[in-house]
This record gives sequence, C-alpha cells and structure tokens, in this order.
Amino acid sequence: MELNNDEIRRYSRHLILPEVGLAGQKKIRSTSVLCIGAGGLGSPIAMYLAAAGIGKIGIVDFDTVDYSNLQRQLLHTDADVGHPKTESARETLRGINPNVEVVLHNTRITSKNALDLIRPYDIVVDGTDNFPTRYLTNDACVLLKKPNVYGSIFRFEGQASVFAPHLGGPCYRCLYPEPPPPGMVPSCAEGGVLGVLPGIIGCIQATEILKLATGIGNSLVGRLLLFNALDMKFRELKLRRDPQCPICGEHPTIKELIDYEQFCGIAPELAADPDEVTVQDMKKALDNPKLGIKIVDVREPDEYEIARVKGVPLLPLSELPKRFTELDPNGRYYIHCKSGARSMKALKFLRKQGFKYLKSVKGGITAWSDEIDSSVPKY
Ligand SMILES: [Zn+2]
Repeated sequence: MELNNDEIRRYSRHLILPEVGLAGQKKIRSTSVLCIGAGGLGSPIAMYLAAAGIGKIGIVDFDTVDYSNLQRQLLHTDADVGHPKTESARETLRGINPNVEVVLHNTRITSKNALDLIRPYDIVVDGTDNFPTRYLTNDACVLLKKPNVYGSIFRFEGQASVFAPHLGGPCYRCLYPEPPPPGMVPSCAEGGVLGVLPGIIGCIQATEILKLATGIGNSLVGRLLLFNALDMKFRELKLRRDPQCPICGEHPTIKELIDYEQFCGIAPELAADPDEVTVQDMKKALDNPKLGIKIVDVREPDEYEIARVKGVPLLPLSELPKRFTELDPNGRYYIHCKSGARSMKALKFLRKQGFKYLKSVKGGITAWSDEIDSSVPKY
C-alpha cells in the first residue's frame, strides 16, 4: 500500500507536515466517507476530501441541479442545471482527483436504506438541510457506531460538531431531543443563506474528517462550534452526553430507525395552513420548554377567569396594540384564543409589527378541552 510517485507529488504538502506524513496520508487514503447531500455543505466537503486524497467518497442525493443552487453549491456548474446532482458531483470530484473512488447513491436516504447505505463507510458527514434526514442520519450513525460529522447553516449563521457517542461524546438528540414544531424553523429555501456560509461550515466539517482519519488534533466531539458571519465571530459550547437520551442514553427507547417524517410532524396532512398549529403542538411546546416557544392567550380577562390553560399568560387582543412591546419580536409564539379566529387576528397584527415566528392554535381552548384536557371548561 505504498504511495506511487504521482501521489507523492500530489500530496507533498501533507507529507511534509510531520503530524500527517506518509503514514497519515495512507490513513487518509484508506478512509471512506459517506457524504449525505451534495448541496451547499456537501460541495466543499466532497471537493476538499477528494483533493486531500480520501480513498472513497460516497454521495447520497436524489435531487437535480437548480439555478438557485449555483450561488453556493460549487460541485455543480451552470451546464449541470437539470441534471442529477450526484453526476455533476462525480464529474467535479474526478476532475480534482482521479485517484479517488466516487460512489453515487442517487436516492433519498430513508429509514429503509439508511443502515445499508452507511454501514460500508468509516465516517458519515451530514450535509442535509432538513430535520427528518438529520435525525435519521443521527440515529443510524449511533446504531452503527459511526462518527457523524455535523454541520448546519441558516442565513448568516452556522454550526458544526462531531457526534460520536461511541467515542465518548453526545449525539444530535442529546442536544436537540425533539425536532422543532413543523414550520417554526424556516429552511434556507424560505429564509435564505449567504453563499459563502456553507463554504465555511463545510470546510470545518472536512477538517474534522481529516483529523478523524489521521487521528491528529482535538476533534469537535463534545463541542458545538457556532459561527456568525455578520459579527465574524466563533463561539463554542461544551456538549455533554445526556444519560436520558432516547438513543445513546443509558436506557435507550429507540432501538431501530423510526418514521422521521412523522416524528418531525411534516406528514402532509398536518401542513394545511402554514400559520396554524394544533393543540397537540401547543401541548408539546408547553411540555418542552427547551423548544423555546411561548404560548400567549389573547382572549379577554372574563374568559380567562372561566377557563385557562395552566402556565399560559393572558394578553387580550383588545390591549395588544399598546402592549405588544411586552413580547420579544424575535421570540417564538403560539397564540391561542377561544376557537382560533382572534388568535389569527393577533398573529396578523404582530406580523405587521415585525414578529417573525408566530403560529395560531387551531380550534383554541375549545379544541384544547376536547382533545387534551377535558377538565378545562368549555363556554
Ligand atoms: Zn444522544
């Protein structure tokens, strides 16, 4: 397994690093990485890994190239629009380094195929942009004991970590046990993203992969790196494994892959009105303060006297025009009333005042009484 003369010339800047050297470069060559997503994050990750000489790179993506991708997804060119992302990825990677074996998985990763897709690889890198795939990737990696090199981006901010319970660190679920309620976190497609941002976060992920492959440095296991491009600041949070974690904790309740679309609540029947959530969502928010969602009741004081949901403050619709400043315009709110009509009015009013994250609870406290807690009187 010696390096040939071409490889020695190609990787010479690695070889003269004492921390990498010939031995390290051989380790890089014998490492295989599965890149989930060939988009904004997947582009720099796969390109740098190919250039660095990772032996085998698998690419999972089912999408085709769209014009709106080209602002940041450097794997794909103008001429690739309309073609499968996996194919333009292979062409670009081959152009960078023909020694690398590129394996295409032109499919959507699902609970059915995830374990088989991931099993043959040493390291998994998460370049996805949606919660179901992120939880699926996490759970599959935990079950298979594969390091999951995580990154995510939105607007001007990004974060990265390495999830690897088998190496002593936490997993994604230790950090975020439950996905945010559907519609509360806009995607890049809805909220936008600065084109270079995935370049920065993806390069951090690629760096972590090369460190894992060679065994050098201190990895991001147990640390969450946060980046803000507007302030040009990095921050770091220490992460601990949660002994109660449903998949990597002491008494795991998840022992196989589940239905992640349903888990993330984006089953199509739930997405009727994007401004509304159900009383079940409201209960979830009340039960999980970690989700950071506040509930506000906009009925009138007399009604609040008659019936109320424990722990939900009152801010009557009639007083909202002069009291909305008591709320945080960047906060996340579910608004409820008696049946869902006034809460929708309140939502529209607050949205005009610049509030971004608002949902109206469908059916209001009446639905709450019917579906969640019948001890709350109906009036
Ligand atoms: Zn965990």
